[in-house]
Amino acid sequence: MVLEKYLSQIAVKEIFPEGQKRIESSSVVVIGMGGTGSSIAEILVRMGVQKITIVDNDTIEASNLNRQSLYMESDIGLKKVDVAKEQLVRMNESVAVNAIDQKLNFLNAEEILAGGDIIMDGTDNYSARNVINTTAFRLRKSWIFSAVEGTYGYVKAIIPGRTSCLSCFGYPDKGEAISCTVQGVIPSAVKAISSIAATTAIKVLIKNEQNGDLIYFDSWKPSLEVMPIPKNEKCKVCGVVSETQIS
Ligand SMILES: [Zn+2]
Repeated sequence: MVLEKYLSQIAVKEIFPEGQKRIESSSVVVIGMGGTGSSIAEILVRMGVQKITIVDNDTIEASNLNRQSLYMESDIGLKKVDVAKEQLVRMNESVAVNAIDQKLNFLNAEEILAGGDIIMDGTDNYSARNVINTTAFRLRKSWIFSAVEGTYGYVKAIIPGRTSCLSCFGYPDKGEAISCTVQGVIPSAVKAISSIAATTAIKVLIKNEQNGDLIYFDSWKPSLEVMPIPKNEKCKVCGVVSETQIS
């Protein structure tokens, strides 16, 4: 039964056979269970990760439903992590799902991020990403940045000691979210960016991928660009520690 669930993905040469074993022994933490977080969690749970921890303290609103695929009309007003956990468990009973009803901050981040082999960014603001970037570097945890706006978005793997980090290219470290209902976002762009982020995570997990290029995808044009982002030796987060000190 377990093997049968994953037949179509283990038929892919990039996955079989060691990749599936790695997926099934991996622990993932998803920060934010909005549009990207929901879709990333769904892909990784259906692929059979061993454990997923989901983190969010929001409640479900009507304006979420066009893109946040774990939630239904009848869930409006309920906690996102509660509904998401229920849905993820129903999707794949082989996966352990841990729900944390908290907003990530510098006080709780170390304990939360420590529980993952890889951290997934499902957040929607600069401040939360700064917490992930700084804490993940301190813990030497790899994380996948993902962000969507309008019809386009970005994905980047950040691997401490190997790739550049978010701060290396001057990404702002403060600022709250501009609501999606104000700045606008189309659901198909959310799905596309979530898929690229999930694939990037799988590559980091199963083949120790160390490519930290910034991937830009616009689902409307359509257009895809891959941009190298070199490490910044003067970066205030990762610039002072050399690779030799880490490894
Ligand atoms: Zn950096």
